[in-house]
Amino acid sequence: MNILVINCGSSSVKYKLYDMTQQAELAVGLIERIGEVESRISHTCAGESTELSEAIGDYSVGVARIIDLLTTCGQPPPLSDPGQIAGVGHRVVHGGESFAESVVVDEGVLAAIDECSQLAPLHNPANLAGLRAAMAILPGRPQVAVFDTAYFQSMPPAAFHYAVPYEWYAEEKVRRYGFHGTSHRYVAGRAAELVGREKPNLITLHLGNGCSMACIRAGEAVDQSMGLTPLEGLVMGTRSGDLDPAIIFHLAGRGMSLEQIRASLEKQSGLLGLSGVSRDLRDVLAAAAGGHERAALAVDVFAHRARKYVGAFLAQLGTCHALAFTGGIGENSAAMRHRILDGLEPLGIRLDAGRNDRRAAEPFPISADDSRIAIWVIPTDEELMIARDTQHLIA
Ligand code: AMP
Repeated sequence: MNILVINCGSSSVKYKLYDMTQQAELAVGLIERIGEVESRISHTCAGESTELSEAIGDYSVGVARIIDLLTTCGQPPPLSDPGQIAGVGHRVVHGGESFAESVVVDEGVLAAIDECSQLAPLHNPANLAGLRAAMAILPGRPQVAVFDTAYFQSMPPAAFHYAVPYEWYAEEKVRRYGFHGTSHRYVAGRAAELVGREKPNLITLHLGNGCSMACIRAGEAVDQSMGLTPLEGLVMGTRSGDLDPAIIFHLAGRGMSLEQIRASLEKQSGLLGLSGVSRDLRDVLAAAAGGHERAALAVDVFAHRARKYVGAFLAQLGTCHALAFTGGIGENSAAMRHRILDGLEPLGIRLDAGRNDRRAAEPFPISADDSRIAIWVIPTDEELMIARDTQHLIA
């Protein structure tokens, strides 16, 4: 069964084609700069990469081009006919309170995703455009929407409410939703297998350019670090994470426009803002090692914030069976894993938790001692999760 996974960003489309019967990844690619004079396509199939520059005016041209590449590139191409695609799985960023799980898309679902666009104005319209394009190009093929927010719909009211006038929630849907849900769900599922419990208590840390942490009790997400938008919570590559909302009024009072403040908090904060060096932790760590004080500060703040959330979630869980790291930083930076967990031995965490450092095809245990909290590094795979949901829903 061939499943195509599509992830439309604000000006890009990532895609992967799976043969779910053979558990094989047949092709992968990315179209960037959609809508610009020259878009870039990179397409890889059977280990062979093709790079192209051509005008891709919108998502429907983009999706049509993807299908074209899948049926013409390679010897032989992975598909001889678009009809061999059994279904398409789409990443959708915001499902609001309407979706607690993945769904087969119909007109009602499209309308509900559209309604959630006010909560994710950069992402949901692009996701919708990809959905509509795939529906038009592959008529009759089931399309499945997999939401970043769905996994966190199990959060209890105490975790998702802000302590603001209740009408903000009732009328404006202002609440905490949580993001990276597909990644946390994948990692939590794998961690459950690894600890040998069907419904474990877990803390999953997705640390990449965007960073979030999830608190999972008896197999269900009960809290996470992101909020109404992916700006809340941990320090990220360029996003601030948590801050006193009064900072915004303070800066507005000093003459900064709301748009400037928003752009700064989203694009000029986090590791980049603090260090002034880079949003990439590798560069920041290298600068810190060379004596760059602001880079060292950025590393300290990043680790301090993450440690604070680990402590908060451990307190919520009482008993925790495992902590699982994922994302570019979580998977690759032993130094950062160590910094985050350093000092938490009294809570059951072993100090050697960051010693290993390798990108494992298979997750590996750093500590699997029963009496302590097991620490795992689990490479995430959101696309595979989307493909599995799609297969499950259309079977
Ligand atoms: P992601 O968004 O999950 O692709 O993660 C991207 C981030 O992972 C980059 O910005 C880097 O900061 C970080 N990263 C990747 N490899 C390493 C590494 N070996 N050490 C530290 N950070 C890394």
